[in-house]
Amino acid sequence: MHFDNSYARELTGLYVPWKPAQVPEPRLLTLNRSLARELGWDVAFLESADGAALLAGNTVPEGAEPLAQAYAGHQFGGFSPQLGDGRAVLLGEVIDRQGQRRDVAFKGSGRTPFSRGGDGKAAVGPMLREALIGEAMHALGIPTTRALAVAATGEPVIREQVLPGAVLTRIAASHLRVGTFEFFAARGELDKLGRLADYAIARHDPDLAGAPDRHLTLLRRVAQRQAELVARWMCVGFIHGVMNTDNMTISGETIDYGPCAFMEAYDPGAVFSSIDQNGRYAWARQPAVAQWNLARLAEALLPLMVREDQDEAAANEVVEQATAAIGDFPALYQAAQLRGLRAKLGLAPGSPASDDAQDAALASAWFDLMQAQQIDFTLGWRRLADAAEGDDGPLRALLPHKGHADLAQWLERWRARCTREDEANPGSDQGARERAARMRRANPWIIPRNHRVEEALQAASAEGDLQPFERLLAAVCEPFDEQPRYARYAEPAPLAVTAAYQTFCGT
Ligand code: AMP
Ligand code: MG
Repeated sequence: MHFDNSYARELTGLYVPWKPAQVPEPRLLTLNRSLARELGWDVAFLESADGAALLAGNTVPEGAEPLAQAYAGHQFGGFSPQLGDGRAVLLGEVIDRQGQRRDVAFKGSGRTPFSRGGDGKAAVGPMLREALIGEAMHALGIPTTRALAVAATGEPVIREQVLPGAVLTRIAASHLRVGTFEFFAARGELDKLGRLADYAIARHDPDLAGAPDRHLTLLRRVAQRQAELVARWMCVGFIHGVMNTDNMTISGETIDYGPCAFMEAYDPGAVFSSIDQNGRYAWARQPAVAQWNLARLAEALLPLMVREDQDEAAANEVVEQATAAIGDFPALYQAAQLRGLRAKLGLAPGSPASDDAQDAALASAWFDLMQAQQIDFTLGWRRLADAAEGDDGPLRALLPHKGHADLAQWLERWRARCTREDEANPGSDQGARERAARMRRANPWIIPRNHRVEEALQAASAEGDLQPFERLLAAVCEPFDEQPRYARYAEPAPLAVTAAYQTFCGT
């Protein structure tokens, strides 16, 4: 393992050096072998007893310089000036086989100076959940932090029940969050804030290094990445569940799979988190929340954008530019979303037949139909690919009979649009089979269904049986191929299960 710890080296004063806690009985529960290979790490070693000791936090690998990062965050709209790694440590960074710098961090590795009242621990169930959903997102092509491993600690964790403890090893493009900037901005520590911004730029937007307007451009870049990320979430029915500013990355990766869930029957108000009583983070609200979070980032960066030597007029102009950058977010999001929806509808971008307003209206009518007919979000889109090949049966089977006329009407409109596109591109690969194949690459057959996730985690946590977890993990890692052996993972949850389903922050 070859560590190169730029955060530790360059950002002294922005973290506390801190070691993971010792645990009694390290045992590897799951290892992401392909990710280990990407990092250039020895799989056989990680699977050995010494590997388990490392992955549970008992031995710090050579070259690592573990530390707890400081960050703040707006949680459900209210500002918490000091959150930080309360149950996590950053071990350091490695350069992977592609030459990419990646953070290696533990979650659940014991108390730190940021723990407040918490125990710094994590339970097996929530850590396996993060591993499972993160890998599902990765297989869906959505930027995400990833789980390298989950190791049991052999230590009980006291929650509402006594649960087995675990440590997750998380790999990320970085752990820089909107809340990291808020921490130093709120304290007026502008020197640290400036170093943090330059560090973030070096890591994620190196072309901006040294540019006088780099902080404003950084804001725009983060907005672009988040617009694309949230559009990807929306396209697969993903509900993050706790979009606090400390859970929004600068890199544009999804982070923190606590109370997240995928929707079943299409419902824009879908929300599963037990603590989200008002639906602040409901599916349909995610783009607006992302914009709100970016406004918090803009506020944190403002002291860097306005230079001391600037007069009031110049300072006002900077504020206007930052405000405009945030105001541009809905357009960025809509463009990203329309790209995603076109792919899901089997429509090629940039075709002479494509008109943004008309295509958005076509998609919107499909959403209305899915909502009115309570169509399963995932299978509804998936069965549209069958319809592209002329077989409407599987799609019709998802609706009650009285909805069939409305469906037929919408299908006619969609087919007319497809035909216009095909006629505008004679000789291109726009035939029905090709369209269906493309749609099957854009519309997954398998998502982590809530009842299957719970079933797998229950077996692992309560009975120590990892097999259901491994089988489900294998299925969600191949979401686009309809393989009969995975059929049970493609089935929607019973309605009663979804109606009663609740998720929890990963405590
Ligand atoms: P999260 O909801 O996981 O994003 O965490 C929000 C904040 O609470 C972060 O600062 C965490 O480090 C902290 N936190 C969550 N669970 C614990 C715990 N069991 N012990 C200490 N801190 C925790
Ligand atoms: Mg968090």
